Amino acid sequence: MRKPLIAGNWKMFKNAAEARTFIYAFKQAVADVKDREAVLCVPYTDLWAAAEALKGTPIGLGSQNVHWEAQGAFTGEISVGMLKEIGCQYAVVGHSERRQYFGETDTTVNKRTLAALAGGLTPITCIGETLQEREANKTFAVLERQIKEGLKGLPNPTAVVIAYEPVWAIGTGKTATPAQAQEAHAFVRQEFAKLYGTAAQSVRILYGGSVKPDNMGQLMSQGDIDGGLVGGASLEAESFAKIVKFEKAAAVTK
Ligand code: PEP
Repeated sequence: MRKPLIAGNWKMFKNAAEARTFIYAFKQAVADVKDREAVLCVPYTDLWAAAEALKGTPIGLGSQNVHWEAQGAFTGEISVGMLKEIGCQYAVVGHSERRQYFGETDTTVNKRTLAALAGGLTPITCIGETLQEREANKTFAVLERQIKEGLKGLPNPTAVVIAYEPVWAIGTGKTATPAQAQEAHAFVRQEFAKLYGTAAQSVRILYGGSVKPDNMGQLMSQGDIDGGLVGGASLEAESFAKIVKFEKAAAVTK
């Protein structure tokens, strides 16, 4: 059984005071949720405040990046040990915004993923095609490359979390249809199985790209979608709580 995981990615939004206010409301709104995991991936400057505010709750805490070295001359980076000390359990790795604006490659994604796993942090490793790649029918080739290169050499493959995020759906209001998302997720699981065999049945694959309270239930009714990585709609406690509390849609629609 793959326990649903819903992670909020706040990107570069909210200061520490705003993080506290959010968490105060959010933890009450999801207090009765038992059968799924909620995680907040917040800016570095919010981590201490968020860790304090989340104490005593099952809500996870994550960063939005992590470096592969334990320490050193890497200005602007952060290590696994630093994040663990604060109380982080998760780190987003290889988000498309990091790939697009900060030169992240499959090679650096792989290094970050391996370092997180080695240090006991769960990487939420992001993959996904751009609009140009989808229109050129390259979606599966891109996903195959990102999986083979970015997720190679994992000592404990079931410990990684994969986020399939079609770049054209991030922050655009254009969600992949449940059928489009399921097709990609099934492919990701199949490619992961080529590397790691039966571990692919246990690995969690999240969907990301304009997830909202009103489309989460339909997405989650798909067999290979195990949760969500949520940007914009995770910035408001009530809306993110509604997403976490999704109910699977009865009928699978396209
Ligand atoms: C994201 O930042 O990973 C994301 C999916 O953003 P949004 O939900 O705003 O599309």
